[in-house]
Formats: sequence, structure tokens, C-alpha cells
Amino acid sequence: MVKTAAQTLDDFAQAKLEALEAQALRRRLIETDRREGAIAFRDGRRLVSFCCNDYLNLSQNEEVKRAAIEATGKYGVGSGASRLVSGNHPLFRTLETRLADLKQAEDCVVFGSGYMANMGIVPTLMREGDLILADELSHACLLSGSKLSGARIEIFRHNDMAHLRALLDAHRNAAQHCLVVTDGIFSMDGDAAPVEEMAEIAAQHNAWLMTDDAHGIGVVGHEGRGSSFMGATKAAVPLQMGTLSKAVGAYGGYLCASKAVCDLVRTRARTLIYSTGLPPATAAAAIAALDFMRTNPDYCRRPVEKAKAFTRALGLPDPESPIVPLILGDAEVTLAASAMLEKEGYLVTGIRPPTVPAGTARLRFTFTAEHDDADIARLATLVRERILPRRAAE
Ligand SMILES: *Cc1c(COP(=O)(O)O)cnc(C)c1O
Repeated sequence: MVKTAAQTLDDFAQAKLEALEAQALRRRLIETDRREGAIAFRDGRRLVSFCCNDYLNLSQNEEVKRAAIEATGKYGVGSGASRLVSGNHPLFRTLETRLADLKQAEDCVVFGSGYMANMGIVPTLMREGDLILADELSHACLLSGSKLSGARIEIFRHNDMAHLRALLDAHRNAAQHCLVVTDGIFSMDGDAAPVEEMAEIAAQHNAWLMTDDAHGIGVVGHEGRGSSFMGATKAAVPLQMGTLSKAVGAYGGYLCASKAVCDLVRTRARTLIYSTGLPPATAAAAIAALDFMRTNPDYCRRPVEKAKAFTRALGLPDPESPIVPLILGDAEVTLAASAMLEKEGYLVTGIRPPTVPAGTARLRFTFTAEHDDADIARLATLVRERILPRRAAE
């Protein structure tokens, strides 16, 4: 019997899933109920989450929640249409001004998410005949946005400035415009890009530097201003992109840049023009969260301090961010380690390819301001006694 199109579609999906399952690469959504203080409930069990990017626990902050509730009461739930169609809500202007101030930029544009920001910004600036240089560990959406632009893409080795220079020397002249992209803080490794040196190299080659500061805002740099502010003075990064969904606790993406660049992005970025604006509650929550950060700079230092307590307990180097990876290599070994920790009451999701390069599956621990020191100590003991010996034996 000839199969129908619907059957061949299902067969295709099933075969793909089975192949992924065989490599321990199938993914599943697990019902998890997040609460205050990095607590999560799964199957009725109370777990302490060490895998959330809510570094300042602002998604559960009372002032932030109140701001969202009040905005919903006043303005309703959805925003009705694209900001260019139904009008720009005053909350957007406030939010963009706060972000531009934080990043010491002239202007700011807010997008529906960080992913959409990168899918909109890069193709607005780059096209065929241009050159994009990307760190090999750049976030998936920076690479997707780069591909979508049609520009030539060259990948440099992670944080390898000699390689970046070599690629610029080899390819810069053949291109009209050139963009260098990198995570400011690398999402799966937790290390920082050398943004000051990158800014210098980019300037020498008339290349534009764009940093994705998704994991930097709120937790690194002077007063939690992010990866451009880790040195004595602000690094000259003309395109500071990031998300409001991590330390800021809400949702949405942003670009902080000059007025001309932001005006161009507002005019041309397809993910801004053809996508509905953020809900008022989300914009209001982000504003309240940024206000909280500005008035509590000491609190912004806590996630990195907590991460440091963990690495010190394990004799590992001090972290540059609240993200601490423990590379185990094998996907199955990683899933088993994660399951062991979950049994002990700690939620630490295993990270597998293609999120990370093949052979580098890992546990990714993230630390938040509200984590209990006793939990961190116990987690470190579990890792030292039950995971590290196995890793050494592999
Ligand atoms: C999470 C993340 C994004 C995507 O941001 P969303 O707002 O969640 O879409 C982009 N870049 C990096 C480096 C990230 O870690």
C-alpha cells in the first residue's frame, strides 16, 4: 500500500527521533514549577535549581511582580500589533532609555526576545559581499542571524585573538563591511570574551564589534553593567546586544547602540517590524528589574560570589561569571550525573551537543543571588565525591 504524505511525514520524524535517542541526544520537556529562591518542583519533589539563568532571582522579586501586575491591570495583556503599527507604548521608551543609560549608549531598541534581536540586527547590518567573523562558541542565534544575512562567515577559535587577526588580514579587504560577533560571557562555558582587545583589533580593521551580553547584564562588570564594563573603563563596543530574560528576570531582547544604528534597526529589522511588541507587563517588569539593579549594585555581585564559593570548594579556578561548566565529555555519563544530583535534590541539567561541541557534554551549574551557602557546599561535596572520580576514570 502506498503511504500517504501524513504517514511519510510521521515516519520521517520517528526515524529521526530514534536515531537521536540512540545517541542519547533526544530532548524532552519536563514539567517543572519554578518558585522563589531558585526552588523548583518536579513530580511533587522540591529541588534547588542550579541551572536557571535568573541570576538575580528577579523573576520572583516582589517589586518586579507588582510592576507587571499593575501594568496588566492598566494596559491589558497583549500589545495588539507590531510597535510600528499599533503605536509604541510609552513603557517601551522608558525601558529603552533605562537600558541605554545602563550601557552608556546613545540609544536602544527592544525586541521580542534575544533570539529575535540577533535574527534582526545582523541581517540589517550585513549582506552579501560583507564579512562576519564569529567566535566558534557564539550563541546559536548569533550564528543563525549571521547565516540569514548572506554575508561570508569566518569562524575564529574560541577567544583566540591571533586567529581573529589572521582572518581579518586574510579576508577583510575583499569585503565591503565587516562585523565581529561574540558572546560577552559565553553561555555554556561562563568565560568572558576579551572585549577590550577585540574592540582594538576591530577598530584597526574598520570592523564593527557586536557583543551578545545575555549572561553579562546584571551580574558582571561595574555595577552589573555587563561585559563591556569589566575593565577600568568602558570597552568601545558599538553594538551591545543582550536579553531581558536572564538576570533581568523578564523577557525580551535589546540592542544598545548609536542613534543612527538604532534608527536603522527600527526601520529595517524584520523581527522587529513583523512581530508583535512585548506585552506591557513584560516591559514594566523589565523596567522595575533594571531599577532594582541600579539601586542594589552589591546584590548584583552575589551570583559570581556564590559561583566562586563552589569552584573554591572544588579547587577549580575562580569563575568570571555565575556559570561554571563541568565537562564530562560523554552525553550518557552527563545524563547519569544529572540524574544522581536530581535524586539528591539538585536540579542541574546536562548540556549535550549540538548545544555544545561533540565530545564536550557537560553539567552547567549556574548560581543565583538567593542560593543558600549550605546547598552550595553540599552540591560541591556531591560533585567531588560522586562525579569527579568517575570523570577521572573515563
Ligand atoms: C539566551 C541567549 C540568547 C537568547 O535570548 P532569549 O531572550 O532567551 O531569546 C541569546 N544569546 C545568548 C548568548 C543567550 O545565552
